[in-house]
Amino acid sequence: MALLQWYEANRRDLPWRRTTDPYAIWVSEIMLQQTRVAVVIERYKAFLTRFPDVITLATAEEQEVLALWSGLGYYRRARMLHKAAQSVAAKFNGRLPTSAEELLSLPGIGSYTAAAVASIAYGERIAVVDGNVERVLSRLEGWHTSSREEAGDLRRKVETLANQLVDPAHPGDFNQAVMELGATVCLPRNPQCLVCPLATECVTLGEHRTPPRPRMITQEIACALAVRLGPGRNSNVDEVLLEQRPPSHSVMRDMWQLPVLSEPVVAEEDLRMTVRHAIMQVNYVVRVRSVVESEVDVLTEAGGLRRWVRLEEAAHMALTGLARKILSRANFIAGDRPSTGLVRLVASSAERDK
Ligand code: SF4
Repeated sequence: MALLQWYEANRRDLPWRRTTDPYAIWVSEIMLQQTRVAVVIERYKAFLTRFPDVITLATAEEQEVLALWSGLGYYRRARMLHKAAQSVAAKFNGRLPTSAEELLSLPGIGSYTAAAVASIAYGERIAVVDGNVERVLSRLEGWHTSSREEAGDLRRKVETLANQLVDPAHPGDFNQAVMELGATVCLPRNPQCLVCPLATECVTLGEHRTPPRPRMITQEIACALAVRLGPGRNSNVDEVLLEQRPPSHSVMRDMWQLPVLSEPVVAEEDLRMTVRHAIMQVNYVVRVRSVVESEVDVLTEAGGLRRWVRLEEAAHMALTGLARKILSRANFIAGDRPSTGLVRLVASSAERDK
């Protein structure tokens, strides 16, 4: 089949394609949901270094799992992955179920992940349908949608077709081949039809109508960068003030952020940096100002638990992506992701502070 031959010759060498371990494939599939491959690669390696198997993940503290997830966004995925690992440990003796149907019984595993793991790791004949697959098959067949209302019908048609097409001998490769084609050749805005292995069978050759994308909105906020210096003259920044988002928050609960200023407008002379950060449909313009310790309570909104944190500890905490970005740009922590080394347990640190 032309598609499988093309995949064999052109597939990207990605770390999760070098393993047959169902657990590792599962982790990669969860990380790859709504997150770019380039962002996932290093975090995937770090995550598997720290949690190499289901039992290690199941017995870890949630804060540690979130810390390793920091920067990937959509933290609910990490919480559900952790819960699912606990469920696998308790109900399946630490071994991931082998069929899509059983995988669906685990927290956070929907039809996409179940089909991906079952087909790639266990060779079950079941199709995976994500945005890439939907685009490729819609273009192949000349199926269009012009409204979001029609999108559900299209998805069902694509699922039916994908399950008819899936190669019974190589279901995992077939699924990955269609997704790879969508990610590298049948691109949303600029399909490379001249090099596409399916061009002779394609009805549209790239002409393809889709519903309008939801508009992004812009929101301005401001954060406080409050620091303490180390002992001695000419000392460097030693601690930063962080705030834990309350458990009642529906988004990024229990994660650590910079305190939010009550006033989103920051005077030019106080401005330390401006950071842009997108979360779902919102483009945040974040102004960051330095705040001296004595003014923190006056200038910031009352939030969750606050704690002065040494910079080396902050680097390993479950920071929000925005907090990690700001601390990294201020050169307080290295890079934009947690290291694979010791991850301090924020929960136990917080206990000590009580
Ligand atoms: S021929 Fe073009 S539009 Fe059709 S599947 Fe290939 S890349 Fe996509």
